[in-house]
Amino acid sequence: MNGIDLEVADQGRAEGFQILARPLGGLSLQQPILRTDIAGMPIEWIDYREAARLYAQVQIAYTCGSPIFSLYGGTNARTGNRSVLEVNSIVATVGNTSNPGNLRKDYVPPLNNQTLFRRDAYLCMYCGHRLAARELSRDHVRPISQGGRDVWMNVVTACRRCNNFKGARTPEQAKMQLLAVPFAPTYAEYIFLKGRRVLVDQMAYLLAHFPRTSPLHERIHKLMS
Ligand SMILES: [Zn+2]
Repeated sequence: MNGIDLEVADQGRAEGFQILARPLGGLSLQQPILRTDIAGMPIEWIDYREAARLYAQVQIAYTCGSPIFSLYGGTNARTGNRSVLEVNSIVATVGNTSNPGNLRKDYVPPLNNQTLFRRDAYLCMYCGHRLAARELSRDHVRPISQGGRDVWMNVVTACRRCNNFKGARTPEQAKMQLLAVPFAPTYAEYIFLKGRRVLVDQMAYLLAHFPRTSPLHERIHKLMS
């Protein structure tokens, strides 16, 4: 077995409980698992430790996707068998924790550069060049100095060159053309944008929860082709 020993942070039920985790299909132990609520709405990314805790607390209602980890638990004193649990790429949980996008109609996910650059597929929204995150910056379409706000609808990804050239001007004042209109992601879109190492089945699942009109459908399609 290629697993490593890890303590599950489940003090209540299984103090000192040890699990061995083995990723399947050549994945890494860091592969995130998509957690949804009972209705299947995406909530967050969790690691296998958190998944093991949810299983131990009987919080998992059902699973989707494919098995990505085998978790080996304690040995049954009577049979001598070790319990094995397969954890899927998507797990639906019971309980009250629901997705904030469902709870509040006016929910807007927090803005940060990592998710902004991913929203814009790492493209400068002025010159169209695809660049690494370190080469990109957050441009305020209407500059702060002209009353623009630091919100999803007023920010785009821009390369440093375009951002410097534009300066404290609007695109019209700078005679620059915006390639796409900025948008605020829905909660499901935000979960996707936050995801690292999103598996194909997780991506398909999240895509099905995006608005039909989401620009991300086309951007992801382009990225994958
Ligand atoms: Zn540019």
